[in-house]
Amino acid sequence: MALADMRSPIESGCPDGFQYMHPVMRRNFGLWKYHEHPQPGVLLHVAINGDKVWTVKCGTQRILDTFTLRKLTEIGDKFADGYIHFTLRSNIEYMTDDESKVQPLIKALGDAGFIVGGTANSVAMISHTQGWLHCDIPGTDASGVVKSMMDELIDEFTSCNMPNRVHITTSCCQINCGGQGDIAINVQHTKPPKINHDMVGNICERPTVVARCPVAAIRPAMVDGKPSLEVDEKKCICCGACFPPCPPMQINHPEHSKLAIWVGGNHSNARSKPTFQRLVAAGIPNNPPRWPEATAIVKQILKAYKEGAKDWERINDWIERIGWPKFFDVTGLPFTKYHIDNWRGARNSLNASTHIRF
Ligand code: SF4
Ligand code: SF4
Repeated sequence: MALADMRSPIESGCPDGFQYMHPVMRRNFGLWKYHEHPQPGVLLHVAINGDKVWTVKCGTQRILDTFTLRKLTEIGDKFADGYIHFTLRSNIEYMTDDESKVQPLIKALGDAGFIVGGTANSVAMISHTQGWLHCDIPGTDASGVVKSMMDELIDEFTSCNMPNRVHITTSCCQINCGGQGDIAINVQHTKPPKINHDMVGNICERPTVVARCPVAAIRPAMVDGKPSLEVDEKKCICCGACFPPCPPMQINHPEHSKLAIWVGGNHSNARSKPTFQRLVAAGIPNNPPRWPEATAIVKQILKAYKEGAKDWERINDWIERIGWPKFFDVTGLPFTKYHIDNWRGARNSLNASTHIRF
């Protein structure tokens, strides 16, 4: 039964992060002198007043069950003064001001089946999107791709052998999350949506779907006397944007929904300007449960980057220096007609303005 003095729910905004911070971090906010990297997965921050705090980074599978979360937090209570936080890439970080707890913490995590790493010039945990758990557009299972790839790249997570940090991202649809990684594995639909006309009239708000198409390829139509939609397949760029507002416009297909690999995206402007990523491999089979073809290409790119880049060059800096022809040469990836952006429809029909349409 509800309590008489139930608190009112707070529906917006995030809570004050300071309450969750380790006391040493709270005390020294903005007062750090330097930091060191004693070993892969461990950072040491030293404050101006001499205070020290060690951070141990541990990879998780992102979609965490209660049992795993309990296990991770119990380890935090025992070895890290009860303070943890999660990073954007689904790593859990433990903080402690007691150096003698660092190695026992790493051992406890290893004994429980977790891996420590992902700092400095390693391949960080692949950032992956929610997929079928709570999104309405997925074309594939991002978590599965991530799991298979990280199994193969585990040594690059637990060691720091790359020229600089490598961020890998995945997306489970073709249009939203998963961009701007050093390497991004994105879904690529290759056929226009197949419309289930019997369902359109009952489920879809047709003007919304028509407005959603970035190339104006969808028109209202009457099919067998019922209101439905039709797609101009010559215009359709197979983006999948019509599927979320109108599930009867099914675009996912076990064979025709492929994966594409893009490289060189970088938000940071630390050493060079931020860059967009570029397509380097298209039409890769979306092949569960281990996605061997996509993983092999990612490994090929990482190998060439590791061998060819200078210290501190991110993947985009390295490609910028050696040039794209050389990139295809050293990675052994074929350059095909699909790499050439020759689509000229954008200027006339692409919804490229920031105006909202209804
Ligand atoms: S990539 Fe697309 S389908 Fe996946 S979570 Fe993001 S928006 Fe949803
Ligand atoms: S897949 Fe994209 S381009 Fe094709 S009809 Fe749907 S919204 Fe338009």
